Amino acid sequence: MSIFSNEELRNYVEEAKKVAKNGQVATYIPELGKANPLDLAIAIHYPDGNFVSAGEINKKFTLQSISKVISLALVLMDRGYDYVFERVGMEPTGDPFNSIAKLETMKPAKPLNPMINAGALVVTSMIKGSSTEERLGRLLNFIKLLANNDTVDYSETVAKSEYDTAFLNRALCYFLKQHNIITEDTETLMELYTKQCAIEMTCLDLAKIGLVFAMDGVDPIKHKQILPRDVARICKTFMVTCGMYNASGEFAIKVGIPAKSGVAGGIMGSLPGKCGIGIFGPALDDKGNSIAGMKLLHLLSKNYKLSIF
Ligand code: GLN
Repeated sequence: MSIFSNEELRNYVEEAKKVAKNGQVATYIPELGKANPLDLAIAIHYPDGNFVSAGEINKKFTLQSISKVISLALVLMDRGYDYVFERVGMEPTGDPFNSIAKLETMKPAKPLNPMINAGALVVTSMIKGSSTEERLGRLLNFIKLLANNDTVDYSETVAKSEYDTAFLNRALCYFLKQHNIITEDTETLMELYTKQCAIEMTCLDLAKIGLVFAMDGVDPIKHKQILPRDVARICKTFMVTCGMYNASGEFAIKVGIPAKSGVAGGIMGSLPGKCGIGIFGPALDDKGNSIAGMKLLHLLSKNYKLSIF
């Protein structure tokens, strides 16, 4: 089964690339500021093992917020539904991903959802293991399994660059500690969180991970259930309601594909039963989503009627 050919994809990439100049690469994590804003790459992975791709597909990028979906899946498996959702909510915020505002007014004072930074920090603090190395290792092994790629690792440079500058995320941690939602040492959590966000891969690896979520937790190539169907369902639902931060509503209407973006310019898409999508385009719009990546998904969804709605 194939929805697009390589040639069609190439044309859409060229078209979408035109808007890259209107965006900017993230610089609040200094290392991300080194990316080429004009890059754009896409890979689409089908359940039969075939894939199509176009653009700068060999470039690696860090997952950043895309890692939030995967850590959520892992802690749901580690701790179960009740434990996780006692500590983090299920509602979109309409605020930027790094906002602290709603934490102050929420009762109980828990983050509204696991896709904003506050919620993701709580989720990362729930990853089981007796040391940072063991916890990161468990997350990495899970990601290697999802991507079917044993070489996936994190970028020490990007992790350090974020760790050295993550003042706002530290503020979120201290707020959460004050309210007993997290109990561990802030610096330990920041180390794990920044390494998690710095896990890097190509858009084909990302498309493969998106495919597992699209196929209800099954790796269709290895015929193996990697995560429970219900965990895949919860993750995909969060991708629809909160995956593109405070642009999720507009994205659901214009594109209609469960997706999660990150500030390095990645977008993972999971089209239920059909394919996984991995995109890399580091120039961002004002909400922190890949500007050319969004355009590309919009073009594909419109022309091939991909919306799930
Ligand atoms: N590591 C980033 C941060 O915490 C992730 C945010 C993102 O990708 N939107 O700021």
